Amino acid sequence: MLYVVGIGPGSPEQLTRRAREALLQSDVIIGNDSYLAQLGPLIEGKEVIRSSMGQEVKRAKRSIELSKTRVVSMVSGGDAGVYGMASIVLEVLEHEGTGIPVEVIPGVTAANAAASLLGSPLSGDFAAISLSDLLTPIEVIERRLHAAFSMGIPIVLYNPKSRGRPHNFALAMEIAGKYRGSGTPVGIVKNAYREGEEVMVVTLGEIALADRMVDMHTTVIVGGEESRIWRNGQHAKGIITPRGYHRKYLY
Ligand code: SAH
Repeated sequence: MLYVVGIGPGSPEQLTRRAREALLQSDVIIGNDSYLAQLGPLIEGKEVIRSSMGQEVKRAKRSIELSKTRVVSMVSGGDAGVYGMASIVLEVLEHEGTGIPVEVIPGVTAANAAASLLGSPLSGDFAAISLSDLLTPIEVIERRLHAAFSMGIPIVLYNPKSRGRPHNFALAMEIAGKYRGSGTPVGIVKNAYREGEEVMVVTLGEIALADRMVDMHTTVIVGGEESRIWRNGQHAKGIITPRGYHRKYLY
């Protein structure tokens, strides 16, 4: 049996009950080191196989091989089907055609985790784009950014910056600026629901202020045409995208 488990953004409270059950039932847990570290006592006493970034295909094949005789959980941060391991595992399984039972278990993805810490920026339509050009050519990412920002809906940016591609974020902000005003709210969430959590709200015009926070542990949400900064008293500050109740009701 093979479980492909989305373990959520970090803290064990954000892990679903089904994910927990699958981990407890597994003989072998396989995944990236940083994700395994988040699981602590849940995987104690099990065979744990740690692999590093960039070894995804090898890891998928290994997990399938092991699941022929044992119960295996392949773990992925957030949701395994969102820029995660689910697709490569399913591709290799299909290719092998052995019919091993597989269950993909959903997890809280970074978009949801970041949105919740900001308030409610993704209340209606939204789109997600990854700025990582490891598997998608930069020209394709650029084309999608133009298409996405031109829709006027909130955009979630995954993989905004890493050492290997420090310029993609600046490029994305430049494209955003062609379609959105400088007062557009932008939420920057680093390490949501795990150690080092940081949340910042700026406007598109002030985005340089947030630059130091943007790296591979950060999710950025650029507001849409209807998004605005939300305040609760003096201190709390977030982003809200009204769903349109104000057009129908008085409150
Ligand atoms: N499968 C994951 C995404 C993997 S891509 C998911 O569903 O969340 C890796 C990117 O996800 C990071 O570069 C970052 O943009 C985002 N991310 C993942 N976990 C995060 C967290 N706890 N806080 C903020 N961003 C996170």
